[in-house]
Amino acid sequence: MIIDGKLVSEKIRTEISKRVQKLQSQNIVPGLAVIIVGDNPASQSYVRSKQRTCEKLGMYSEQYDLDADVSESELLTLIEKLNNTEKLHGILVQLPLPKHIDESRVIEAIDPRKDVDCFHPLNVGKLTTGVEGFKPCTPAGIIELLAYYEIELEGKEAVVLGRSNIVGKPIALMLLEKNATVTICHSRTKNLETILKRADIIVAAIGKPHFLKADMVKEGAVIIDVGINRIETGLVGDVAFEPVQQKTSYITPVPGGVGPMTITMLMKNTLEACEKIAFDAK
Ligand code: NAP
Repeated sequence: MIIDGKLVSEKIRTEISKRVQKLQSQNIVPGLAVIIVGDNPASQSYVRSKQRTCEKLGMYSEQYDLDADVSESELLTLIEKLNNTEKLHGILVQLPLPKHIDESRVIEAIDPRKDVDCFHPLNVGKLTTGVEGFKPCTPAGIIELLAYYEIELEGKEAVVLGRSNIVGKPIALMLLEKNATVTICHSRTKNLETILKRADIIVAAIGKPHFLKADMVKEGAVIIDVGINRIETGLVGDVAFEPVQQKTSYITPVPGGVGPMTITMLMKNTLEACEKIAFDAK
């Protein structure tokens, strides 16, 4: 069965839209600021689609396009200003940043209450210790997809391919929170195929086109393909979709699987940041 990320995403967006309207009736509009440094075309395209989605859902958005040679202190000053801007509830700095800027310092400068990407160490700490708070967008989208299709996680063997701070590590924590038995694999993992073959659920997030082949997966496994790789024929995931699909019970396509969920979860985090800031202030 193909997991339809567009469908699930639309359903969640309808819910978000209703909650936004409710806030609007109290003269509150969720606001998101997106900062982009340099002119990476992929980042520009992500940022445009984030803004379009904000508009569609009735949210306010601001975009800051900074030159690639902007200084770290200028960027930090801007973040400080946005932290103190009442109509903004979410602040997102599009990564990666140019080499001369310390990414950690920038992330730590964002008010944790406005850290809708969930990259701030305080929010990562909450995620790690199971305290309620923001969930990072792509992993949160994966959990929503699994929940929508009622895919059981408790006691299952889950293998996460990739250990990035954005996808691999947080999705491993979130699967653990759902009582899966989780193994994280990376470029130095030995006997990768043996580990993959025992998995009930595989989350592939390595950025290598068609890396996961049919002979690496168990019959009936659930495959979540996070990869977005641009090759000559277009966008493909980290999974060799056609052959792997024959063996799986559920699989996400690329595009149309995890991708649409990421922006939707960003909108949800922005909405929830707004609700929290607005109602905590009352
Ligand atoms: P990343 O930071 O480049 O991390 C890649 C991870 O894959 C690393 O942990 C690396 O291991 C591991 N890896 C690389 N080659 C491997 C191999 N041959 N065997 C096992 N592990 C290997 O990537 P990311 O940011 O997590 O993104 C991964 C993919 O997901 C990319 O295609 C990205 O575009 C996509 N993505 C999609 C969404 C979405 O919304 N759908 C969101 C975020 C990312 P080491 O740590 O040992 O180097």
